[in-house]
This record gives sequence, C-alpha cells and structure tokens, in this order.
Amino acid sequence: MVKRHQYQRPGRQFIEQSPPLDRIADFSEYLDRYAHFLREESGVGHCPPIDLDKICKHFGITFAECPLDPDTEGASSEAIGWIGVNSQVRARTRKRFTVAHELVELLVAVLRDSPIADSIRFQLEGSEKEALCNSGAASLLIPPSSLQVNGQNPACSATSIRSLARRYQTSFLATTISVVRHSPDRAALVAWKRMRKPTEERKLNGGAQLSLGQGFEIEFEPKLRIRWTIRSHAAGVPFLPVYKSAAENSVIHQCLREQRDFLGSSVVDPDLKLGPDCTIDVIHQHPESEFEVLTLLRWPKVPSS
Ligand SMILES: [Zn+2]
Repeated sequence: MVKRHQYQRPGRQFIEQSPPLDRIADFSEYLDRYAHFLREESGVGHCPPIDLDKICKHFGITFAECPLDPDTEGASSEAIGWIGVNSQVRARTRKRFTVAHELVELLVAVLRDSPIADSIRFQLEGSEKEALCNSGAASLLIPPSSLQVNGQNPACSATSIRSLARRYQTSFLATTISVVRHSPDRAALVAWKRMRKPTEERKLNGGAQLSLGQGFEIEFEPKLRIRWTIRSHAAGVPFLPVYKSAAENSVIHQCLREQRDFLGSSVVDPDLKLGPDCTIDVIHQHPESEFEVLTLLRWPKVPSS
C-alpha cells in the first residue's frame, strides 16, 4: 500500500529544479520533462500501464469523483492539491486521461503565476492550454521512451493505435497524441468541434444589434471547426490553423452526419490543402467528448535524397 504523503506541489517542485521554460525550445518537450519528473519522483517507472494513483498519493494530491458541469471532464486546485473527475465520466481510460490532464494543469497554474514571456503566457489560456495539457497527459500515460519496439515507431493509423491503446490502458485519444508527436513520419491529429469563431461570438454578444433595422440579419451558425492540432516533427506537415472550418461535402462532415468512422480515405477536403498523397482516418467521437470528430492524417515518407 502506498502511504498518502502531505501535499507537495509537483508543479512548483518541478519548476524549481528544471531549466527555465524559455531555455527550452519546445513547450511539449518541457511537458515531457514534467511527465518524466512525476513518474520518477513517485517511483512509477515507464512501463505501461502508468500508475496514476501512486503518483497522486506520492504528491499527497486528493482525488475525487464528483458532479461537475456536463461540459467539464475534470477540475483541479493547485493551491490545495485536489483533482476532481466528473462522476458522469464512465470509461476508465477517459478517467485516467482526465487525471493525467489535471496533473499537467497543476504545473500550468504555477507557470501562470511566475514571470514568463508573453509569447509563452498566451499558450496558457483557452484551447492552446487545453492542447498542451492533453499533450502532457499523453506523455505521462505513454512515455515516449516506451513507444519504440525493436527500433520501430508505431504506425500512425487508427487500427494500429487501437491495439497499442489496449496495452497502455489508455484512451484512443491519448495514445494517438503520443504516437503522432513522436512519429518520425509526416502525421497530424486534428480535433473538430461545431463552434463559432471568437470574432463571431463577439459580434453576436455585442455589435450584432447594430445591423438590425438595416435589412441585415447577422447569423453565425456554429460550423465544424478545428479546435486543436498536434503535428509530428517531420518536415512538410501542413499548418492547420485553429478555427479553420471543414467543407460541408468533406468526409469530415460525413463522419459527423452518419456518426461512423471512415478509415484510410484519400479524399479529404480541398479547402484544407493537404495534398493528393494524404491519407486520413476520420473517427467519430462520443457525444460527451469535448470535440466531435478526430482526424488522423498521414503522408508517405519523403524519399531521402
Ligand atoms: Zn484543462
């Protein structure tokens, strides 16, 4: 049995003993280090499945399942060392991912209160922050060092990732994030949700009434838009901006309409400019999820010259 310690703030401890964030080129790499720190300090090691309970107990973090807002999977308080998971969340893998996500939020809360550059600070808000926490959570549950088998990285396809997820006892999402981030091949993971752009939200909440009476009806129907993207480090992966919308006739929309997956499609969405050699797996998400469709994009290896 692991004895619960007095609360020791993992975010603060990590910041005190690691190089400053602005000396690390990539925020994700910083989170990889934090994930490594959490596992090492609590003696969990890197073999799957990662024991999150042991990590929480080591740092004296109180864990609770509690009723939360339906849109909220989890919550945390860095000040008192508390992590809550929405009691509506049933799947064990989703609970594990939520706890891991909140363990990263404990670091983000400390970073927000520390003197950091504006270029970093803006990443600690909104969807950018959520993407970072998801990335750190995936790194915690699926240590990059454990992914390679016989020097081979796993394939960036939904089928191969599903079998990997069973081994790690992780959700498909967490596993995909890790596989894509550490893939030497050209790959990207994109989460889609029906939403409005922030500018549209502002117009609806503020200036829309200015146009009324002039014969214009301003309507901003939520569109299926990019909520966040994770790309592999390989050169030549197209940039896919947050809030970019999917074409109505795309396979991405078809997935949402028909509520089913499309694996290995080569016809994507001409607006996204992904190139003719892109293969896409389009995966329908549970309605409770924070996004509605996931797309896993991959391109053939660029022949080395
Ligand atoms: Zn979060």
